[in-house]
Amino acid sequence: MISGARSIDPTILREYDIRGIVDASLTTEDVRALGRAFGSIVVRGGGKTVAVGYDGRTSSPRLEAALVEGLVATGLVVHRIGLGPTPMLYFAVHHLGADGGMMITGSHNPPDYNGIKITFQGRPFFGEDIQHLGRLAAAGDFVAGAGRTEDHPVAEAYVERLVQDFEGGKPLTVAWDAGNGAAGDVLRMLSKRLPGRHVLINEVVDGTFPAHHPDPTVEENLQQLKQVVAEQRCDLGIAFDGDGDRIGVVDARGRVLWGDQLLVILAESVLADLPGATIIADVKASQVFFDEVARMGGRPLMSRTGHSLIKNLMAETGAPLAGEMSGHVFFADRYYGYDDALYAAVRLLSVVGGSDISLADMRDAMPVMVNTPELRIDCPEERKFSVVDEVRGRLKNTNGVTVQEVDGVRVASEDGWWLLRASNTQAVLVGRCEAADDAGLRRLITELDRQLRLSGVGPTAFG
Ligand SMILES: [Zn+2]
Repeated sequence: MISGARSIDPTILREYDIRGIVDASLTTEDVRALGRAFGSIVVRGGGKTVAVGYDGRTSSPRLEAALVEGLVATGLVVHRIGLGPTPMLYFAVHHLGADGGMMITGSHNPPDYNGIKITFQGRPFFGEDIQHLGRLAAAGDFVAGAGRTEDHPVAEAYVERLVQDFEGGKPLTVAWDAGNGAAGDVLRMLSKRLPGRHVLINEVVDGTFPAHHPDPTVEENLQQLKQVVAEQRCDLGIAFDGDGDRIGVVDARGRVLWGDQLLVILAESVLADLPGATIIADVKASQVFFDEVARMGGRPLMSRTGHSLIKNLMAETGAPLAGEMSGHVFFADRYYGYDDALYAAVRLLSVVGGSDISLADMRDAMPVMVNTPELRIDCPEERKFSVVDEVRGRLKNTNGVTVQEVDGVRVASEDGWWLLRASNTQAVLVGRCEAADDAGLRRLITELDRQLRLSGVGPTAFG
């Protein structure tokens, strides 16, 4: 084997990032080799600098050190920004003018996981890019050079940039739950710079996640935040995932605002400044999002699910705002177009602070739909795409439905719509159903289950 070559476990080379179990599928040696491989891509592309950050997991400092060693060995200058949320790394890439960025993070996964998120030349680095990285590491196809490191803490500049777009309004009482994730330190700095009263919980970075799992799309992880909102009579509560690129929001009555609902509220203020703008949501979003954006004079656009795909679609269409059900929110309006939950929080507080009505009232002003959460149906990896193809084929001969094929099938009928798509990252089919009433929802779930059974999978947990 060539010196430093390292065959990487293929299961950790995922669609949007690298992620594995530390010291099992993802070792320090793997990370060093991936650093050399990515450094070689940057150097061959004419680049000179890479920014590197890491999250609050216990394994992150040593994985960061190995990554930096690998990058330096290719001749690059490595800007080490230290511990912080993933969007702070994205900010550092812009702020320092780096050619690429690498973030050691396991996002919201259990404590024994870790991984790497990557940007290169201002674009997401994903899909085939990540496969290519794995091949370079396995072949030991590395550039050799003598680089160096520079320490570049950017937390103060980052917070300054976040605060810059805060628009004031009435002072609010806000509960914040950092989930012991990587955003804690920055959150403490940010909240001191905002008016109103701020109640912080789980803001101490702790990679064992003692309070709850740092994933705000799972409602039980928002229990503690809801309690604080009630006890402290807050106007709203805001939670972050483990690396601060996804947001969760609850209103003063403790009700969750899901990603698509949050996007409607943010879209209203963006469209006030940019009438007719394109606003993007992923294929799992409620019909309410598409109807409300159109009603407000915007152009709603449905995207495939996946944060890298959404970033690319934003760049192509010039959309100033996009979001996913998963809580990724991307602002290109006045900002850089990446997913930053802290920035989304600042913009949300501007909207709520500047409004005559509460966030709870904004939520109540939206049409009410009944819908399922994201339904996850186990399906063998080699079958997941063909099942969707089979369903699509059968629907061609079905009257009374329209099929959108943005990502899998989204099937609209009199009752509402249902979705079936193959997960990009797991051996899972993802479904969702939404209707105007319970009876309609039941019919949609029945139809989805019928289609799944015809292909020998399912039914959904609701079947
Ligand atoms: Zn995340």
